[in-house]
Amino acid sequence: MVADPILLIGAAILGLCFGSFLNVCILRLAKEDKKQRSLFHPPSTCPSCGQPIAWRDNIPVVSWLLLRGRCRRCGHPISLQYPIIEAVVGVLWIAAMVVYGPTVHFLAAALFGTILLGIAITDARHYLIPDEYNWAGLIIGLSASLTAGVPGFKDAVLGAATGFALLYAVGVVGRWVFKEEAMGGGDIKMMAMVGAFVGWKGVLLTVFAASVFGSLVYVPLLLRGKKRHVPFGVFLAMGAAVVFVFRDAIIDWYLRFVRAG
Ligand SMILES: [Zn+2]
Repeated sequence: MVADPILLIGAAILGLCFGSFLNVCILRLAKEDKKQRSLFHPPSTCPSCGQPIAWRDNIPVVSWLLLRGRCRRCGHPISLQYPIIEAVVGVLWIAAMVVYGPTVHFLAAALFGTILLGIAITDARHYLIPDEYNWAGLIIGLSASLTAGVPGFKDAVLGAATGFALLYAVGVVGRWVFKEEAMGGGDIKMMAMVGAFVGWKGVLLTVFAASVFGSLVYVPLLLRGKKRHVPFGVFLAMGAAVVFVFRDAIIDWYLRFVRAG
């Protein structure tokens, strides 16, 4: 447990900035009209009047509160989504610092959580998991495993391979059984990325946890004949976050359970 205020404030500031960047990613990576704006250019503008957003109006959470959620020039409302996501990511980074301290493990946890949040929101809204999240995550996960090792490098590579192969196999079987696309390419690449952070055992646990979460939400809906399409990435993201934090505890518990049986 870390309680050094300097470290916590540092983590909060980093988290708010990454939250602000995540807002841009959520907006631009999922554009269905594919205007193909890159993440870094052009700078953000007001969607109503086109006024470029000045740096002082772009400070995470603070600017939104000072402007009372309206564009400085035209008064067009600015979505509450922006400060909420910034605040959530800020809290996530603080929590990661409290738990892991100023280590590579902290950085891996904070970035992994930020990416999972972006994936969950995009998949829930657009049934889409943009490649940018998967590639960035895969590189970050493998790099982290080279240093302090969340899982070690070998387990991270094995985890990525397991995630890819497992979801690919589920997709093939699903297509064969249901005669339709059961697993999107995004889910397959996402689990390769997740595997780099949680290792091969973590991949199995993540898919299991996601299936449980998904069933809890979707079985009642299906029974009432509602909504069929499942944004499975949302549940994979939830499962991956739980497994990243509690992996060893879950595996210990499971082994004790099996031995006792
Ligand atoms: Zn405006």
